[in-house]
Amino acid sequence: MTSKRRPVLLADRDGTLIRDVPYLSRIDDVALLPGVGEAIARLNRAGVPVAIVTNQSGVARGYFPEEFVLETQVRIMELLDDAGARVDAFYYCPHLEPDERTRRDPGSVPHLLRSCDCRKPAPGLLLRALSDLSGDPAQSAIVGDADRDMRAGEAAGCGWGYRIVPEGETAAQGPRVTLVRSFFDAVELYLKRSEGKGSLER
Ligand SMILES: [Mg+2]
Ligand SMILES: [Zn+2]
Repeated sequence: MTSKRRPVLLADRDGTLIRDVPYLSRIDDVALLPGVGEAIARLNRAGVPVAIVTNQSGVARGYFPEEFVLETQVRIMELLDDAGARVDAFYYCPHLEPDERTRRDPGSVPHLLRSCDCRKPAPGLLLRALSDLSGDPAQSAIVGDADRDMRAGEAAGCGWGYRIVPEGETAAQGPRVTLVRSFFDAVELYLKRSEGKGSLER
């Protein structure tokens, strides 16, 4: 075994890999977005490990149990398997920051209502994935559909950030983030990264 560090692709889940359903809580609502299976299969063939990193504060809010998050992951892996693709690791944050609680949505699982190092934009999930998969942050990428995904990637030292912005919508384009239309487009750019632009590196 070598201790050589390698590139890892870190992917947000909702709105990035699967259809964004706010606080997804029915397994039948799990659907891969177009091109996701093919894109992950390409990463598999390129030898780039793929890890899902997802905020699931619906657990702390009491919308669904942690078991549902795991059940959803099993479903995602089945759908990917149908496309000949696989993800290598899965990480989620079940917490809710105290200052995010509202009167209407105060949260209902007391031990999860706390500050943590894993709710994006904190980098905890990404750092765990990079550590477990022997990832070199500078060669690794985060793909997500939210600013907090990009901030987590920056905090984890990711060399590349790809922010998905749907057609007809806009996002602040910074020098450290590449805007893309889909996960598929992000992967295509990442696999060609030596010629690409938009590195998070200064
Ligand atoms: Mg998302
Ligand atoms: Zn957390």
